[in-house]
Amino acid sequence: MAMRYVFVSGGVLSGLGKGVTASSLGVLLKSLGLRVTAIKIDPYLNTDAGTMSPFEHGEVFVLDDGGEVDLDLGNYERFLDITLTRDNNLTTGKVYANVIEAERRGDYLGKTVQVIPHITNEIQEWIERVAHIPVDGNGAEPDVCVVELGGTVGDIESAPFVEALRQFQFRVGRENVCFVHVSLVPVLGVVGEQKTKPTQHTVKELRGAGITADFLVCRSEEPLKAATKEKLALFCHVAEDHVFSAHDVSNIYHVPLMLEEQGATRLLCEKFGLDMSKDRPLLKQWREMAARVDSLEGEVNIAMVGKYTGLTDSYLSVIKALQHSAFSIGADMRITWVAAANLEPDAEKESPELYAKSWADLKAADGVLVPGGFGVRGIEGKAVAAQYARENNVPYLGVCLGMQVAVIEFARHVLGMEGANSTEFDEKTAHPVVIFMPEGSTTHMGATMRLGSRKTLLQNSGCIAHRLYGGAMEIDERHRHRYEVNPDMIEALEEAGLKFVGRDPEGQRMEIMELDGHPYYFGTQYHPEFKSRPNRPSPPFLGLVQAAVNRTNA
Ligand code: GLN
Repeated sequence: MAMRYVFVSGGVLSGLGKGVTASSLGVLLKSLGLRVTAIKIDPYLNTDAGTMSPFEHGEVFVLDDGGEVDLDLGNYERFLDITLTRDNNLTTGKVYANVIEAERRGDYLGKTVQVIPHITNEIQEWIERVAHIPVDGNGAEPDVCVVELGGTVGDIESAPFVEALRQFQFRVGRENVCFVHVSLVPVLGVVGEQKTKPTQHTVKELRGAGITADFLVCRSEEPLKAATKEKLALFCHVAEDHVFSAHDVSNIYHVPLMLEEQGATRLLCEKFGLDMSKDRPLLKQWREMAARVDSLEGEVNIAMVGKYTGLTDSYLSVIKALQHSAFSIGADMRITWVAAANLEPDAEKESPELYAKSWADLKAADGVLVPGGFGVRGIEGKAVAAQYARENNVPYLGVCLGMQVAVIEFARHVLGMEGANSTEFDEKTAHPVVIFMPEGSTTHMGATMRLGSRKTLLQNSGCIAHRLYGGAMEIDERHRHRYEVNPDMIEALEEAGLKFVGRDPEGQRMEIMELDGHPYYFGTQYHPEFKSRPNRPSPPFLGLVQAAVNRTNA
């Protein structure tokens, strides 16, 4: 069968949930028994998301192959249960790098190299090539590729991509391409009128670029009224039943179901000339998930001690992993954000109220999580949070930096190594318990970390990790770091009870930490959050949530 492409663009403003819409359409297509893959286009000039601040742009998502990509790829992996590659994230930086390299090689000898056709061809070739990469672990090529165009149509940066997509329909056949435009329908005034003008404008802009939307997905607070759909159809050159309402719902799992109820799957089948299968077990699973999340009983409160507490997107996968875990045991996830710096003694002098409130928040939680991070700010606050959890038998999960601060704290207070630190934060420390152990370059910042999937071997079958990972002795998880626990310190740390139960195959890199005699004091050098799925919560996160629930029930 010919590859089908669903292009999802956005208008009016960013942050409309285009990624969730695109993933949801993918779920509906997958429910037909099709193999679905996804590509995210980010029109910025960075080659990848690796050097971008999570504070500005949201979390850097890490793939098996070590690709550092936009967080939307995480949505695709979670929604569609697939494993993507770095090439599934296309950026202006990557496109231009390829074209400029080809120009230097002499591939275009004699020609003037231009945005049209050279850049636009490169984009089209990229999409067509990557669409065929198997992603579901069975080695078979996908049937459908969902391509999300980041940014909003009309931005200068996205113009070459919009033009490439316009040309693409002639390259692969109009019948194999479907354009979905996501827009906003705001409500104004006391009568609560749903306004269609912003959508009219953005559709006009898209049509000016030569693209006719097949479907409109309109974000709104309330379901679109019939009159609103009618008006949009009239002014935007789409059939009335091709205008979908994407109104607010109680949880994210309702989004595919909401589109399904409005006929999206049937209409996509009509568009692509596909049969609509009757038996769709995947939909049943989603209905169950959506219903389960609506009827959670009891709350579990986890304190997240991080650096960026203002922007939850900075820790998106961590939040998802916590939610998957809580939902799987029927509990509602409450995350209390604690800015690490506010737990430090200095904060007490500057703002006693903030300090007191932060400590009260930490103490009120059923469990503590210190996620990954870079840079010295808040390090001491994270270390005291780890100390508090250790000394008070509070369930603790340290991810990457969160494991490193736990080791630092343990060395200082249990082994009496005053000033113990990571050389990332104190190059001259007398007790370097965490040291630079790179795999890549020591001079470049981009793509030089220990990145992507690496093997961890469990050292014995009696550890908590063995139980959490379902009896496996070998674990594959994703990494993103430069520093690690100093191998020379292992003996001392282990003798005092901090056990490194998971290591790399050479036995040099400490991957999993557990503390003897503590209900759950767990650390991972890797980032387990990236492989968490709605129906398969990440084991270390599930361990934390379970221990936190047990503690409140005890
Ligand atoms: N900054 C630490 C390192 O590079 C931790 C990284 C992280 O938490 N992802 O090792």
